[in-house]
Amino acid sequence: MNHHAPRTDLSPCILCGSSSGRYLYPSAGIITCTGCGLVRADDIPDQGRLMELYSESYFRSTNSGALGYDDYIADRDKICRTFRKRLREVEIQAGRKGKLLDVGCATGFFLEIAGQLGWEAKGIEISAFACEFARRHMSVDIMCGSLAQAELIPESFDVITMWDFIEHCPDPSTELAHAHRLLKPGGLLALTTPNISSVSARIWGARWMGIKQGEHLYYFSPATIKRLLLKHHLVPIRVKHVGKYIDVDFFIKRTGQYSATVQRLLSRASRWLGVSDVIIYVNPFDIMLVYARKGITSE
Ligand SMILES: [Zn+2]
Repeated sequence: MNHHAPRTDLSPCILCGSSSGRYLYPSAGIITCTGCGLVRADDIPDQGRLMELYSESYFRSTNSGALGYDDYIADRDKICRTFRKRLREVEIQAGRKGKLLDVGCATGFFLEIAGQLGWEAKGIEISAFACEFARRHMSVDIMCGSLAQAELIPESFDVITMWDFIEHCPDPSTELAHAHRLLKPGGLLALTTPNISSVSARIWGARWMGIKQGEHLYYFSPATIKRLLLKHHLVPIRVKHVGKYIDVDFFIKRTGQYSATVQRLLSRASRWLGVSDVIIYVNPFDIMLVYARKGITSE
């Protein structure tokens, strides 16, 4: 295939309807819509392929730099620390506690924290492995399936969260339409997603951590996510960048994706200092946290 010529045979863009795009990173199968600049994968899988992808091997990956997590369950403490920090921020933004829906809730770690802090929390998750884990080990309310299949009462949630979810969806536009339908008037949507226009993304190109071929299907910028939210009468109120709690060892392992030399030097230093297990909060300013409210827009 000639990767320099624009493609005109793509499924219609979810933002502008255009079927043409140019390759941004041909090696990773990533294209930019010529109509609106939205970045997406050139191959969007169907529901069946998605369900296969999010099996146990996704949550216990042997190559997490490329796909999934090293061990999502073993990393529970760090993940929960990140979620506690997020929830505190959501609470400030929401102003009050109430009913919360976590879409793409994985094993339910966020739901458990929300429940402990007084939210009436419900989750939805497509991965059968994650749902089964939650059913056995967590006391949380999780529905297994997609938002489209879930029988939920319209306008019943005060807050909907989508942590690292929207970039995995074959159709983020429909997911946001569901979020709008399920939120109470004035309800809050909080989502995180990698920022394709961030400095890291621009510096590292196809090697940027946010690029995950076959897993991340859409790559938003503040401009494109705001536009998509507004299309569904979800009014963006704030965009900021957030980090994660990780251990020093993991941080060093990920630097290897960018530079093997740096990884070797850091690895030696951390062993010498005895800090490999120390947990740090790392914010590379390339993951957006977007808040939007259900409201009426002039569109
Ligand atoms: Zn477009």
